[in-house]
Amino acid sequence: MADEAGADVLVLGSGPGGYTAAFRAADLGKRVVLVERYATLGGVCLNVGCIPSKALLHVADVIESARDMAPHGVEFGEPKLDFARLRGFKDSVVTKLTGGLAQMAKQRKVEVVTGTGRFADAHRLTVSGAGDERTIPFEHAIIAVGSRATKLPGLPDDPRILDSTSALEVDGAVRRLLVVGGGIIGLELAAVYHALGAAVTVVELLPQLMTGVDADLVRPLERRIKARYAGVHTAVRVEKVEAQADGLRVQFAGEKAPAPQVFDRVLVAIGRQPNGAQIGAEKAGVQVDAKGFIPVDAAQRTSAQHIFAIGDVCGPPLLAHRAMHQGKIAAEVIAGLPAAFDAVVPSIAYTDPEVAWVGLSEERAKAEGIAHEKALVPWGVDGRALGMDRPDGLTKLLYDPASGRLLGAGIVGARAGELIAELTLALELGADVEDLALTIHPHPSLSETVGIAAQLAHGSATDVLPRKKKPTA
Ligand code: FAD
Repeated sequence: MADEAGADVLVLGSGPGGYTAAFRAADLGKRVVLVERYATLGGVCLNVGCIPSKALLHVADVIESARDMAPHGVEFGEPKLDFARLRGFKDSVVTKLTGGLAQMAKQRKVEVVTGTGRFADAHRLTVSGAGDERTIPFEHAIIAVGSRATKLPGLPDDPRILDSTSALEVDGAVRRLLVVGGGIIGLELAAVYHALGAAVTVVELLPQLMTGVDADLVRPLERRIKARYAGVHTAVRVEKVEAQADGLRVQFAGEKAPAPQVFDRVLVAIGRQPNGAQIGAEKAGVQVDAKGFIPVDAAQRTSAQHIFAIGDVCGPPLLAHRAMHQGKIAAEVIAGLPAAFDAVVPSIAYTDPEVAWVGLSEERAKAEGIAHEKALVPWGVDGRALGMDRPDGLTKLLYDPASGRLLGAGIVGARAGELIAELTLALELGADVEDLALTIHPHPSLSETVGIAAQLAHGSATDVLPRKKKPTA
């Protein structure tokens, strides 16, 4: 046990990783101190990430869905936007959740210390707050300091240049928005601003939007936004941004670079970098790599055996649910339970359409020569998708040709993010396509596309023409 003023478990950072670790450790009987530099708990995810962005994306979905009904005989007219109330809605969602965390910390007797922490040595952390400093001894520590937005060098210092945090403030109508970066965060915020009336241009440095995701899953999204946005350009680089009175003049480079244009706002969403190099980790014997990530083993242990790291700071994928899962593992290992990270991590882009994937991707299967077959179901065959006027989806299963075991899945389409949960469970349970094919999916539902894809693989599909091969059973 640590001394009176110390902690059995000190958690540095209160994002989804940190608060989960702190609560689990407290529930397992540990004396826990949670150190957070900001006054509100919840980290990036709750305050300036997942939660506020999804509140705004819900608003975007309502607006776009209403607009899309016009050709079908239901016209609402253009929305009247009150940005202060819209912000109020988003902020109220955040406050509900962050306030709930503070309450839960109190109920679990987790001591919350506000201030910036740095390791003094292998068993002490110094916290600098408003004018004072406190050193907290600890037996074990869990580093959960997360990540921050990467800045694009060479840009003028101008408030019209936004990052994801300032973009979530939605402080008024934007006429012309440039989004630099066609990854998940950039494309989600592009969807918000487009729905709120902006002419949105997206530029991505690499040849594909959402690099790393199978191209067939990205295509329906690309098709839809290309038809709606002012421009979507891949393999294009921002060359120069000049601050002018009438906006930000941007020059582009690349074979298919558009002509220079003036934008009212430029949102930089080119990725995130870890905060691992800012906490004096070396003083505690914790190895940090050149990028600022902290390498860990399956038990979330760093190079110092009594210090753990979880969440964004220990490498991609930078996702809240992965951070939470890792937080539980670290707390359980410290409490002597037999825990290790051995789970598939689903990913979702809450774009329109949503893109979701889990397990093996086709791109990786091909690159690594992993034996696989795929079953594809375009959503045009699904009654629910047609009734929602959203046949632009695709459900894809990858499975082992010999055993039929599911290896991975990807879905693009409305609410794909909800559908991926079934396939995540299927992967966790080691299901094969027959298990999925014999599972009755409710009709009519988008989830039927999962059932049909599995039946296609299994050889028992009736909603689509069967493949010309022998059924597996
Ligand atoms: P963080 O949430 O980054 O929290 C780290 C905490 O540590 C912060 O509160 C920070 O203040 C604190 N801290 C850092 N250094 C110190 C220090 N020295 N002393 C004290 N405190 C410190 N992920 C999803 O899974 N789904 C989504 O829909 C999603 N949407 C996103 C949308 C946006 C706009 C952004 C930016 C991110 C989104 N993410 C999403 C990613 C998600 O937010 C992160 O993966 C997640 O927050 C990581 O959790 P974490 O606990 O590792 O760290």
